[in-house]
Amino acid sequence: MDSVVIGAGVVGLAVARALALSGREVIVLEAADAIGTGTSSRNSEVIHAGIYYPNDSLKARLCVEGKNRLYGYCAERGVNHRRCGKMIVATDESQIEGLRGLERKSHANGVTDVQWLDGKDAMALEPALTCVAALLSPSTGIIDSHGLMLAYQGDAEDAGAAIAFLSPFVAGEVTDAGIRIEAGGAEPMSLLAREVVNSAGLFAQPVAQAIRGLDAASVPPRYFAKGNYFTLAGRAPFTHLIYPAPEQAGLGVHLTLDLAGQGKFGPDVEWIDTVARPEDLDYVVDPRRCEGFYAAVRTYWPGLADGALQAGYSGIRPKIQAPGEGAVDFVIQGPADHGVPGLVNLYGIESPGLTSSLAIAEMVMGKLTA
Ligand SMILES: Cc1cc2nc3c(=O)[nH]c(=O)nc-3n(C[C@H](O)[C@H](O)[C@H](O)COP(=O)(O)OP(=O)(O)OC[C@H]3O[C@@H](n4cnc5c(N)ncnc54)[C@H](O)[C@@H]3O)c2cc1C
Repeated sequence: MDSVVIGAGVVGLAVARALALSGREVIVLEAADAIGTGTSSRNSEVIHAGIYYPNDSLKARLCVEGKNRLYGYCAERGVNHRRCGKMIVATDESQIEGLRGLERKSHANGVTDVQWLDGKDAMALEPALTCVAALLSPSTGIIDSHGLMLAYQGDAEDAGAAIAFLSPFVAGEVTDAGIRIEAGGAEPMSLLAREVVNSAGLFAQPVAQAIRGLDAASVPPRYFAKGNYFTLAGRAPFTHLIYPAPEQAGLGVHLTLDLAGQGKFGPDVEWIDTVARPEDLDYVVDPRRCEGFYAAVRTYWPGLADGALQAGYSGIRPKIQAPGEGAVDFVIQGPADHGVPGLVNLYGIESPGLTSSLAIAEMVMGKLTA
């Protein structure tokens, strides 16, 4: 057969869609019984503008490209979304320089619509906010991520792709005739594919390590950084997403809104042990972590009432850098990188992977046809 995609998250589905639309015969192997049960349904559902990432990084390029394509796709396919905008706020003078740095970075990344607001103008836009300055990003939005995945799945299936649920990849082997894939589950199968795309998210490294013939040295290390969310009881008094000046391993405890207007705070950063199987992931939110949230949120929203936050959900970032190491880029390896014809491995597809999904799919297609 032509192509096997491992993982039916938002990235795997976007890749399957692109492969199927190009006329290939495509099977998606998914370990779970439904699409998007991993990180793709455990995130902030934000369409990121592309502000934070180092200039010329894949994250910067694929985010900006992905955002533009995603807004077009949502309009065309009727995927629910809202271009609500976001404010990144400095709550004391010492953060102004960092915020100015973000403004320069966003311009370098081609995000030229950001606007600098002094504290007065920012607080006029969002009266519940306290800050000394803010950077307004009008192109940031929110999206129904499940609706997006259903649209990708629909396009892929209409073009002939099939998703095999409860069919975990268990092993692979590089042969002269293509890559042989063994899938487990209730109905184990063996497939010989000309192309294989490993988009197994948190499990991309163990999947790659189980492909005989792929140089193990090409597989990056694996770390998990859990992000916990706390939801706000009642309606949030904001219309924009509100982000503090960023921290090292995440974007700080920020307020995002869902399409129904429900506010949530997070995600924080909690490094956890990696696990071998998806069923061993622990998504339980420890309600005690809430304490840190109140203090962090009150720096920009002093009106947050005691007891207003409730433990919500969590997601886990597929990191390829250890705690304390600087942020690293997406790693998308094709034949030119690891030497195996027809194989693409995707590692460390954390945020902004949802926003970038259409652009990542196009890049994967490029690596397969180069
Ligand atoms: C806390 C948090 C907040 C985020 N917020 C945002 C945001 O606001 N905006 C944004 O753009 N991005 C955000 N992201 C990033 C975004 O969610 C991810 O980049 C994206 O969901 C990754 O999709 P994926 O398809 O690569 O992985 P996943 O969604 O994890 O999909 C991988 C799939 O592979 C399957 N799988 C695993 N092992 C196997 C196997 N052996 N065989 C078959 N299938 C297998 C899994 O079951 C799963 O369905 C956030 C991430 C986190 C953790």
